[in-house]
Amino acid sequence: MEKKARKIGIMGGTFDPIHIGHLILGEAAYEQLSLDEVWFLPAGNPPHKQNRKGRASDDQRVEMVRRAIASNPHFRLSLIEMNADGYSYTYRTLERLQNEYPDTSFFFIIGADSLFDFHEWKNPERICAAAHLVVATRNQVSSELLDQAIAVNKRRFGGTFLKLDSPNLDISSRSIREMIAEKRSVKYYLVDPVIEYIKEHEIYKDREQEDGTV
Ligand code: ATP
Ligand code: MG
Repeated sequence: MEKKARKIGIMGGTFDPIHIGHLILGEAAYEQLSLDEVWFLPAGNPPHKQNRKGRASDDQRVEMVRRAIASNPHFRLSLIEMNADGYSYTYRTLERLQNEYPDTSFFFIIGADSLFDFHEWKNPERICAAAHLVVATRNQVSSELLDQAIAVNKRRFGGTFLKLDSPNLDISSRSIREMIAEKRSVKYYLVDPVIEYIKEHEIYKDREQEDGTV
């Protein structure tokens, strides 16, 4: 791949809510890959997934990301995936970014769980052509298993896969939503400005529906 002037990390996610796992991943990628910036792209929700019980609204998820990254000068918020009909395919987003910023190489940062279902994403080969993939461990997967999954995806879809050196962080938005609904403390799982925002707007106080729509 040709050498580009600028290197940008992309953290996509639902961020419902954004937690320290996301932030630590972004920072580790920034440092280890000498990135110029990391952009956080909250995913839009399709209309049928909006206003669900126990979940934040699109605006609230965006606001939580804004607050979570405010103290970090090389983190930025991008609303490119928050379009009106909600859903955006990663390959389209990355191709659009590539066209808009031809001097930039993009590094798409994902957790191991996303790598394991990467083959089910729309056009994985186009994702690999538009960005380098950066994978972080999750759910205690062994380094060997992660290497194996990387090799399989590389063979199948081409491109570059890089492994992040990051700790296994047993933390998910889902577990945080549950903790809040059960009135347990989430201090240190989320940054304080996000905790304050959730309290102020009473987000996640109801349990989410367990009917498979989440
Ligand atoms: P949910 O529980 O609602 O699925 P989540 O914690 O998995 O939320 P997402 O917004 O779905 O968060 O994740 C966005 C990206 O961040 C995904 O690529 C996911 O693999 C990664 N990620 C999230 N939390 C972690 C973590 N603790 N360790 C490594 N990767 C993570
Ligand atoms: Mg997830």
